[in-house]
Amino acid sequence: MRVLVGGGTGFVGRELIKLLKNKGHEVTVISRQPGPGKITWAELESGGLPPCDGAVNLAGENIMNPLRWWNDSFKNDLFSSRVDTTKTLAQAIASSPSPPHAWVLVTGVACYRPSLLTQYTEESDWTPFDLLSRLVREWEGAAKLPDDIAKNTRQVVVRPGAVLGRDGGAMKQMLTPFWFGLGGTLGSGRQPFPWIHVSDLAGIIAHALEPTTPLPSDQPVVLNGVAPTQATNYEFTKELGRIMQRPTVIPVPGFVLDGLLGSERAVILTQGQKVEPKMTLESGFQYQYPDLTTALREIVGN
Ligand code: NDP
Repeated sequence: MRVLVGGGTGFVGRELIKLLKNKGHEVTVISRQPGPGKITWAELESGGLPPCDGAVNLAGENIMNPLRWWNDSFKNDLFSSRVDTTKTLAQAIASSPSPPHAWVLVTGVACYRPSLLTQYTEESDWTPFDLLSRLVREWEGAAKLPDDIAKNTRQVVVRPGAVLGRDGGAMKQMLTPFWFGLGGTLGSGRQPFPWIHVSDLAGIIAHALEPTTPLPSDQPVVLNGVAPTQATNYEFTKELGRIMQRPTVIPVPGFVLDGLLGSERAVILTQGQKVEPKMTLESGFQYQYPDLTTALREIVGN
């Protein structure tokens, strides 16, 4: 298979490309920067879709970028980096003489309203209720293909929770404070913490690209990209501390995170959703890291 990966230079993209290449597939990355094995977004817009059997979009300004203050300019970048790149790729697919058989967009679980009790699956109804859920609505809307193209191109949206891996995402920022014994629960600690190991997220994307994967072909498919076992922030914190053999007794109050990150962004840490990967499991995906202990052991090492 030839696969086009928007934002393939990032944390999830590097893992996905490693997996696709190991499976013998060819990969071209779409990036803001030119380079070997890459095309730029401007080249995609002007030259159209290169021949490919699958397309993925992972591009997006990092929401947790500690160097960016939470202001209108940053919020605009969060939206445009996701919605515009997704629209560009969807339009290139729609106007290609030979569209790929699969088109996979990776968004997030922020569409589900945070709750301590509600269990969400891919079938749960949702309407936007805050900035991040509005982002997911626009982002997923930008991916929609016209009906005549959608007949032959499978459309999949993967919604991951916090992606855990050694080389990026939340863990990269967490490991040093935990190592120095400065780790602790965030906010109340009771909030659900939907998570997935980066190798499993790459696996779900590759699974969605495979023509043989049994997924409905008559409508856009959603796959929740979360582990099948759930945890609260407290359980995650205690397990990471146990595996790192470090104390985790210094909680970070919610108002501190609100002040540091901006309350609209801090909800990612201080609130959470119980999300089940119902469709992901029903489609036959097998997790390598289904529980926190095996995932964190792999990330932290022995
Ligand atoms: P990264 O932060 O690693 O970014 C992915 C790529 O996006 C970058 O390598 C970059 O590619 C491109 N990019 C960054 N900023 C911009 C911008 N302003 N405009 C256009 N492109 C930009 O993301 P991840 O790999 O961690 O995540 C992939 C996707 O999954 C993202 O959309 C993210 O929102 C989503 N997600 C991630 C989670 C996580 O925990 N990591 C959790 C839930 C969802 P280049 O420089 O080559 O252009």
